[in-house]
Amino acid sequence: MTLVNHWIDGAEWAAAPTRTAPVHDPATGRESGRVALADRATVDLAVARAAAAASEWRRSSLSTRTRVLFAFRHLLATHTEELAAVITAEHGKVLADAAGEVQRGLEVVEFACGIPHLLKGGHSEGVSTGVDVHSVRQPLGVVAVISPFNFPAMVPLWFVPVAIAAGNAVVLKPSEKDPSAAMVMARLWREAGLPDGVLTVLHGDREAVDGLLTHPDVRAVSFVGSTPVARHVYETATAHGKRVQALGGAKNHMLVLPDADLDLAADAAVNAGFGSAGERCMAISAVVAVEPVADALVARIAKRIGDLRTGDGRRGCDMGPLVTAEHRDRVVGYVGAGVDAGADLVVDGRLVEPDGDPDGYWLGPTLFDRVRADMSIYTDEIFGPVLSVVRVASYDEGLALINANPYGNGTAIFTNDGGAARRFEVEVEVGMVGVNVPIPVPMAYYSFGGWKASLFGDSHAHGADGVHFFTRGKVVTTRWLEPSHGGVDLGFPTHR
Ligand code: NAD
Repeated sequence: MTLVNHWIDGAEWAAAPTRTAPVHDPATGRESGRVALADRATVDLAVARAAAAASEWRRSSLSTRTRVLFAFRHLLATHTEELAAVITAEHGKVLADAAGEVQRGLEVVEFACGIPHLLKGGHSEGVSTGVDVHSVRQPLGVVAVISPFNFPAMVPLWFVPVAIAAGNAVVLKPSEKDPSAAMVMARLWREAGLPDGVLTVLHGDREAVDGLLTHPDVRAVSFVGSTPVARHVYETATAHGKRVQALGGAKNHMLVLPDADLDLAADAAVNAGFGSAGERCMAISAVVAVEPVADALVARIAKRIGDLRTGDGRRGCDMGPLVTAEHRDRVVGYVGAGVDAGADLVVDGRLVEPDGDPDGYWLGPTLFDRVRADMSIYTDEIFGPVLSVVRVASYDEGLALINANPYGNGTAIFTNDGGAARRFEVEVEVGMVGVNVPIPVPMAYYSFGGWKASLFGDSHAHGADGVHFFTRGKVVTTRWLEPSHGGVDLGFPTHR
């Protein structure tokens, strides 16, 4: 049985861990290996090695860092298939989807390749007689990245390349459910020429996370996961004086107006609702249909679901299994709760006949109609292939529903009315908005992040926010003495 151990000082750690957890192949239900779970002593050791590496790396030239980033970009692109296979084997998402997440992560590496430009400061000549001012942005030191199971490559890549390019050392704590993608990437960083210790992969659970959140040498924490854990991370790490961005859960709505292209909207609802078995923070989980379109839209969505093939992600299926047996059972529980609460179960994913091992964690695409805002299938983040249709009478009712939701990650409007779309863009209280685009994940040179309970902290991921998050500003005021200087003056410095 393989052991996925920590990556410290540029190599897989040789010492046996005190605790381990099982890793499963969700498409077969079989235990494929064990992952190390770091204790406090291992956290301290990893951070100490990272801190030593950080003090060297921050002095490396921008050209050196850029060369490493370009080399890593090339290696990531040429190892996409290997990485996708590792992701599918532990997460379960289909291979094409796994390759897609690597591609989206690659785009952040490409963004970070431009770090010399991104770190440029300002310079003002002659702010006072003989005095100049310039600003620089400097790295923080050791930063922690704590990532969720649902994007084992892309979410680490939202942060790690930008943090490293900015001159920090990173301790990455991936999800213990699918830890191997981080190991592949660590190996590629080493092959790209990254000095040992600049990237550490520390595996673990709450003990490792809490160790990082309270460690005095960890300067900043980028977290992505569920809202309760994001809140815990934000509160604990800020109380320990750290800079924190904690991205949380989601409940994303898609508002369909009566003038929308219903085939486009139905395609989008199916793609965004069931891609990656609904285990995406930008998945659409609630379709808000403005009457009279609901009957026609539900029929179109149901027909498309009938054409989907659920099964092993290595067999060319459309949708894979859920990540663990417990998670599958939890989502199945929500389907029962929806029926009990009186929602119309249009397609029952519990009846799916998967193309895969009977012991895989299967649940087929599930569609509910006539869902009300007080039902648990609407209020809770289910994080599975369960799509709810909520019928509303007007745009205003739909908008009020979305704005009343505690989450604010992503949303979309489907319409052919530019004025309505523009109004939505202005009025909706959500961080990422799509107009006839169901999963509006921003490109790497913009920043990714939700509002309300979907993000704690001020900075979004990557783009300008990412560079800002992983650096701190310094302003330098300079005067080179002329042959005669001004003499003693105890007045407050003002320009002359
Ligand atoms: P999770 O919150 O269970 O775990 C996330 C990370 O926190 C993991 O590394 C895990 O080991 C660690 N962790 C778990 N419980 C902890 C605890 N009690 N104390 C400290 N650390 C803990 O999330 P998950 O199930 O891995 O991922 C799915 C969730 O992530 C969903 O809620 C999804 O919406 C969210 N997510 C959000 C975004 C976003 O951009 N907002 C992106 C991806 C996923």
